[in-house]
Amino acid sequence: MIIDTHIHIYGYPSFRDLSKHIRTMEDAIAFRTRYPDLYQCNLTEEPIDNTDDLVSDMDRNGVDFALVQARAGYVSNDLVAAAAKRHPTRMVALARVGHDQEAAGYHEDPGPTREAAPAEIERCLGPLGMMGVGETFVRALTDHVNPEKIAKDLSGIMRVVEKHQVPIQFPTAWSQFPGGLFYGDPLWADEVAARHPGVPIILTKMGRSITSYFDSAMTVAMRNVNIYFDVVGTSPQHLRFAIDKIGAERIMFGTDWSTTWRWLSVPATLHQIRMKVLGDAKLTATEREQILWKNAARIFKLEPSLRRAAKVAA
Ligand SMILES: [Zn+2]
Repeated sequence: MIIDTHIHIYGYPSFRDLSKHIRTMEDAIAFRTRYPDLYQCNLTEEPIDNTDDLVSDMDRNGVDFALVQARAGYVSNDLVAAAAKRHPTRMVALARVGHDQEAAGYHEDPGPTREAAPAEIERCLGPLGMMGVGETFVRALTDHVNPEKIAKDLSGIMRVVEKHQVPIQFPTAWSQFPGGLFYGDPLWADEVAARHPGVPIILTKMGRSITSYFDSAMTVAMRNVNIYFDVVGTSPQHLRFAIDKIGAERIMFGTDWSTTWRWLSVPATLHQIRMKVLGDAKLTATEREQILWKNAARIFKLEPSLRRAAKVAA
């Protein structure tokens, strides 16, 4: 079984076929600067539900179940919840806040977004039935650079997450979006993890193959047992090192599938790239099982959903 813990859903009409624009990893990263007019569709067009495309990509690649969250832009949590509900045996949803700024640029004053975020997350984890919080781009909620002040600014959302006992994802390293690069070095997350030891914190991309960011992620993970990683963008060497140091039970499979990245086709598809990293890291059968689905099932409390999907014996 495979559970993909890192997927961004919804696209835009102009993104329906990007096969000519995005083939290599470099194309994906350069998409914003290479096609600025096309990229603007993130902000001007009405989002469309692309989970049927997702399910066919999952089927093609042997992925059984997915944790889906909004992509960058004006994709509301209500849209994400509605899309996930259309595929109850294949996916559940994660909440996001501030992801509109990921595409549009960060507000100079993060105060209003920070103040509104706890209530929105409460709404998502309560009435909308979401199973955790997706990638939280920290600059949308704070402009502090001191770890203690960052932790203080994140305390509102962390208290809600703590109450619901669900995980939250923070991205590491770089993204193709403008601004906020400072927060890609996850050293600040130590303070958040220490203040909320009951909350599983997933540092997505575990440094994205950049050694200095990986070292920070590892340092934080070594002294906070509530720190987890996903494998998006990592290297076999970093994955192997992380397994040997913190254990395979703290690492989860993810692809970062999205309306743009799903078009990667050279030299391999997005799924093949991720699976090759697992292969090259020479995982044991147990490690493989933990990373591919067992950890996600445990940490996101997915057993009832998986049972509904008849993936696990009742
Ligand atoms: Zn992502």
